[in-house]
Amino acid sequence: MKITDAKVFVGGPKKNYVTLKIMTDQGIYGLGDATLNNRETLPAQYLQDYLVPNLIGMDPRNSEDIWQYFYRGAYFRRGPIATAAFGAIDMALWDIKGKLANLPVYQLLGGKSREGAMVYAHATGADLEDLMDSVAFYVEQGYKAVRVQCGIPGMPKGYAVPEAKGDNLNHITDYTGIRPKVEVWDTDRYMRYMPGALERIRERFGPELKILHDVHHRLLPREAAAFARAVEPVDLYWLEDPTPAEDQDALRLIRQHSTVPIAIGEVFNSIYDCNRLIEQELIDFIRVAVTYAGGITPVRRIVDLAGLHHVRTGFHGAPSHSPICMAAQAHLNAWAPNFGVQEYLVLGTPECDALFPSEHRMENGMVWVSDAPGLGVDFDESKAARYDYVPGSHPVVRLEDGTMWNY
Ligand SMILES: [Mg+2]
Repeated sequence: MKITDAKVFVGGPKKNYVTLKIMTDQGIYGLGDATLNNRETLPAQYLQDYLVPNLIGMDPRNSEDIWQYFYRGAYFRRGPIATAAFGAIDMALWDIKGKLANLPVYQLLGGKSREGAMVYAHATGADLEDLMDSVAFYVEQGYKAVRVQCGIPGMPKGYAVPEAKGDNLNHITDYTGIRPKVEVWDTDRYMRYMPGALERIRERFGPELKILHDVHHRLLPREAAAFARAVEPVDLYWLEDPTPAEDQDALRLIRQHSTVPIAIGEVFNSIYDCNRLIEQELIDFIRVAVTYAGGITPVRRIVDLAGLHHVRTGFHGAPSHSPICMAAQAHLNAWAPNFGVQEYLVLGTPECDALFPSEHRMENGMVWVSDAPGLGVDFDESKAARYDYVPGSHPVVRLEDGTMWNY
């Protein structure tokens, strides 16, 4: 069996999805997602110029060897552009493998460990009252877990919060161009306000709701330790990215002062970015995405390593991931014995469903994996032609005095 061709598409409804389609001499094709948010043209170019020409003629069944060929063969290993590009190839090869075997990918991984996989939604508000309405909206729809973010009094705009009340689908990416908007951050105001706000959400919604909160890398290690201790009465399901991911020793300081579960890893590209955090049991949830972490092959190894150390999965599921990545993660979530939760933002606009038809279902705050062979998601090339690449950006962050800070 041979790979005969591979095509890369960039575009989608209100998103620049990077979609890879690999064709074979047996008429079976596979699909992968290489979307790198706000840098979408780069993995697309890496695929077109370097990876696809080498892929032609390879046997698509040898997905492990092909992964090793592109990882070890690059010399300059890792980095999100490369891992998103060969992650898409790996997803497409698992899709082909499943179609050849006439089995859904979760069966190739070891079968189902559960029926539905719990997801969490993003509730957000311009202020706390607005956030409460947003949480109530998701609770009414049956969600068991909700991430909560709200505006901080006196701070112009916090992370992932809308500018106006009632806009609970906050759009982080701005498609008016590649020059980012500037957000102003004030750690002192955040530290004073947010623990009490989280306590009020717990009081309002009761003990059953799983509450998650994302600090988005904004705190210094000592501040993060103090914040984690301050929010202990809230009984958070997790505290996400309390400090920038590069300084892994920062997690040790948080651990010494708090038992709040820590979730980290959405910007990681390799098992070598997370092995120390997992082996030293400094985190509770690993947040890698199948796209940026290089595909199903390496993510399966990360999940197995995490399982040895009581670390559960909480895969990244921002709207920048196409339904192909979310399908790959749905199969891993169905299988992983140490599954925790899946981040899930509403992808299901009619335009998105038409471009990526699938039978994966989202109901009552759970994802139900498709039983179709392969990844169980298709791609309508005829509709893809409607969409062009639209340059976009996410904000940058400065302190009040102008100092650059962590987005
Ligand atoms: Mg996050």
